Amino acid sequence: MKTEFFELSGDGRAEKINKAAQVIRGGGLVAFPTETVYGLGANGFDEKAVLSIFEAKGRPHDNPLIMHVADLDTAARLGYLNEPFYKLAAAYWPGPLTIIVKKRPVVNDIVTCGLDSVAIRMPSNEYASELIAAAGVPIAAPSANRSGKPSPVTARHVLEDMDGRIDMILDGGACDVGVESTVVTVCGETPTVLRPGGITPEQIKEALGSVALDKAVTQMLPEGEKPLAPGMKYKHYSPDCRVVIVEGAGAKEYIKARLAEDGRACALCFNGEEGLFARAIPYGEEGDGVSLAHGVFAAMREADGAGISTLFVRCPPKEGVGIAVYNRLFRAAAGNVVTVDR
Ligand code: AMP
Ligand code: MG
Repeated sequence: MKTEFFELSGDGRAEKINKAAQVIRGGGLVAFPTETVYGLGANGFDEKAVLSIFEAKGRPHDNPLIMHVADLDTAARLGYLNEPFYKLAAAYWPGPLTIIVKKRPVVNDIVTCGLDSVAIRMPSNEYASELIAAAGVPIAAPSANRSGKPSPVTARHVLEDMDGRIDMILDGGACDVGVESTVVTVCGETPTVLRPGGITPEQIKEALGSVALDKAVTQMLPEGEKPLAPGMKYKHYSPDCRVVIVEGAGAKEYIKARLAEDGRACALCFNGEEGLFARAIPYGEEGDGVSLAHGVFAAMREADGAGISTLFVRCPPKEGVGIAVYNRLFRAAAGNVVTVDR
């Protein structure tokens, strides 16, 4: 299959978006920019098209997709919306927040992988909302990477993974947030964050009064235990090398020593620390979750295929947007965290 590539910032934006919308309506696959990461979209009401998303990504069939909408009416067609849903939507939509509610029968089991709930998001990226509106259907979309690889935050990343496998890529520049949306379920008694992202647990608490954090966010679950978000059980987002998170006051010295022993090891460090290590990829400003979220996937992609044995990671802050960065790195490291106190 030939993959068409359209740059959206130049002339003919409306035409390009309309072409992409036609591809979606015709059952094809279009990668498109959002404020979180690039998505791989199909008509959410077209069973065959949705199945082809799983094929193109190599995505396991028990990992459900998010339905992307451009208005609340479409959300109401997909799920039974409750009071916490409306509060969250009023506070943070359009934006990097996915809300899980009980699903209506119209939503195909292929999208939800047989669950009785559906994940819905209204993106704030202008290109994304124009595409969804032009398509006139909800767009089912996971991140536009091959399954298990770091999520794409530029159209070039999408091309690396998906050239020849999908119909079209829309290039809308680099993504703002840089990590996937926050996933929160409002199906149960207490609203629970299943995956942290650009909207922080603190912000959800502000809107709803209470919030819980699913333990799969910061821990590896014991063998056989199922996380509430099926996607959280997979080793994820990772480059093709061993990844180790190093935390504690002695982290810098520890990483320096490991790199001195192993010429193929590399540090994933904070901006300005490159000179400390024999080999280093910086991923953002120390202590700044927003900056680290913006840089983490591009840095992991840089590490991928670079002949690195072990990537030693400086630990992001575990609060605010930093918890989302920690979660992605923790999964890339398959739970491998070393604490080095002086
Ligand atoms: P992705 O589209 O790759 O960013 O992943 C979407 C995330 O949302 C995955 O972790 C899914 O397992 C999760 N998810 C989607 N739908 C549901 C649902 N109905 N219930 C729980 N988690 C869901
Ligand atoms: Mg993904």
